Amino acid sequence: MIQEDCFERYSRQVSISGWGREGQDKLRHATVLIGGVGGLGGPVAYYLSGAGVGRIKLVDSDSVELSNLNRQILHDENSLRQWKVDSAQKRLNAFNGAIEIETFPVRINDENIDEIARDCSLLVDCFDSFASRMVLNRYAVDHRVPLVHGGVAETRGQVCVVAPGGRPCLECLYAGLEQQEGVPILGALAGIVGSMEALEAIKLIIGIGEPLIGRLMICNALSPDYRELPFLENPECPVCG
Ligand SMILES: [Zn+2]
Repeated sequence: MIQEDCFERYSRQVSISGWGREGQDKLRHATVLIGGVGGLGGPVAYYLSGAGVGRIKLVDSDSVELSNLNRQILHDENSLRQWKVDSAQKRLNAFNGAIEIETFPVRINDENIDEIARDCSLLVDCFDSFASRMVLNRYAVDHRVPLVHGGVAETRGQVCVVAPGGRPCLECLYAGLEQQEGVPILGALAGIVGSMEALEAIKLIIGIGEPLIGRLMICNALSPDYRELPFLENPECPVCG
């Protein structure tokens, strides 16, 4: 893409206070890992591509199913049975051809994450699996990489940020909770929570505003009720303690 096009494409955001050419350059030089390309990962990938994040790595071991389409807006009826990362890559390439998209159709684990995440400046947790989420969390804490977390279940959602250095971390938040399978999810709420994750990611990359560090944003879509709770560390946490 020629420079002129870039200027026009991002013209409606660079004039935001604290953003500027410098902020846009930070986005262009950022490499972001998005773990999970479903209901949360879709809006995250869309908005980070739209904002001009230079390089995005997509990790997801699932293929697209019809029951995903109430909430997973990166995919459509033509992408059924394709890897989600491949379906997402096609859509994102069409959306912003200047963004480099790398795909990993694998289940992330403590062995493969070093290779996948090694040059990432930011991690975004959009997984629905506790095990995958905790792999990302351990890597973020050990390597001092910021991690944006989002989660949705039924009509409730949450967002927070694990700062570089990692206290508190997602192990502190999830200790004692058990994975539930096939939890219902309101699609529009996944859109809100994913968009909030994208916002936090952009704020962290550019260095504007106050990231949700040590705070947990929770929402109840039905009330509707959006509020912030303190996100407390567990002094006994086996990961960050
Ligand atoms: Zn912890």
